[in-house]
Amino acid sequence: MQGVVEKVYERVVDRNRGEAEFHQAVREVLESLEPVITKHPSYAEGALLERLVEPERQIIFRVPWVDDAGEVHVQRGFRIEFNSALGPYKGGLRFHPSVNAGIIKFLGFEQIFKNALTAQGIGGGKGGSDFDPHGRSDAEVMRFCQSFMTELARHIGPSTDVPAGDIGVGGREIGYLFGQYKRLRNAYDAGVLTGKGLTWGGSLVRTEATGYGTVLFAQSMLATKGQSLEGKRVAVSGAGNVAIYAIEKAQQLGAAPITFSDSSGYVVDEAGVDLDLLKQVKEVERGRVKDYVDRRPGARLVVDGSVWDVPVDVALPCATQNELDGAAAATLLRGGCAVVAEGANMPSTPEAVAAFQSAGILYAPGKASNAGGVATSALEMEQNAGRTRWDFDTAESKLAAIMSDIHDSCVTAADEYGRPGDYVLGANVAGFTRVADVMIAHGIV
Ligand code: GLU
Repeated sequence: MQGVVEKVYERVVDRNRGEAEFHQAVREVLESLEPVITKHPSYAEGALLERLVEPERQIIFRVPWVDDAGEVHVQRGFRIEFNSALGPYKGGLRFHPSVNAGIIKFLGFEQIFKNALTAQGIGGGKGGSDFDPHGRSDAEVMRFCQSFMTELARHIGPSTDVPAGDIGVGGREIGYLFGQYKRLRNAYDAGVLTGKGLTWGGSLVRTEATGYGTVLFAQSMLATKGQSLEGKRVAVSGAGNVAIYAIEKAQQLGAAPITFSDSSGYVVDEAGVDLDLLKQVKEVERGRVKDYVDRRPGARLVVDGSVWDVPVDVALPCATQNELDGAAAATLLRGGCAVVAEGANMPSTPEAVAAFQSAGILYAPGKASNAGGVATSALEMEQNAGRTRWDFDTAESKLAAIMSDIHDSCVTAADEYGRPGDYVLGANVAGFTRVADVMIAHGIV
């Protein structure tokens, strides 16, 4: 990096000490912006870049809650309202012990560009807590969610900030959060949260959307080379909502997903993942991937090593940030992997991204390929505003059209800057210019 872009980056590092993931996310975007600033110096005027990297509002709060044994715990809650140029802040809530300000800032920053790519009029935000729902009873999760929402409610609203799920926040948590919001506000503002249950304002396809969208994006990338997913061996990491529905869509398109993972290890099922069993274990029983192996002859659990050691044609990282490092990228490439589409946010380290790009394979950054989740959240908001409900096929075809548009926007932006096939540059530049043009129109705010 050099010039104005480097100065902006150095200031971010200086003012957000120790927030390594946030620095990483900012660096990746700013690097892509160098050719844009050279071509259009006006984007560096009015401290636009400095404003872009500074959240509009940061909320950090105490979340006390009582466990089933009567012990009091104190968690930290966050909501980073990063950028509202394009619409109300929009982005998920993550409940995981690793959550801190730097993690939420990186996620919120990514969300700005991801949401811009969807072209649906949504700004960028993210929130969460260091609360760990694993092993907690429903009653404990409910009390935590109620305490969390008691503070968060004053900051959000259907035209202000619309949270949703992320790691550790699914339908159960959104239900408890919505119940408390409704009680505090005495208002049935369905559009204040997305990822709601289907009987109280949720949208069909929202559950499937992130995983489905990731696979659709991979399919669009392959189509640029005259290929498809048919017959391809696929490695998926993670075993949450994104991984499960990436596996489902990959199977529907004729590919063979053979792995998934959680913090206890990864599973290889050469016969192809038994999706009904995986859903039973993870969605119904809230179990571990080991429970799948116990019931599935031929599948094996590997507790040391990496899911990326399995030779495949396509890799779909759907677990968490920095789960795929330079060494794993080298192993994947040696095994013949030619397509990587990220279902998680920033799962590949900068070294891994560099390895994929120098090998010239098809590589999609999460802010483009996993945008289907938030895009379908915006479709949920649209249905809530119209007090209507679309059927599955309608919602899915809208998702597919949005993913295809995102893909094409990335391709066009990469071509414009003389870097055909560079989806990192394409996503960052296409997302940035949409936000930047509106920030300029709105003046110095
Ligand atoms: N947490 C998801 C993401 O990373 C979805 C956010 C939303 O639906 O608002 O994009």
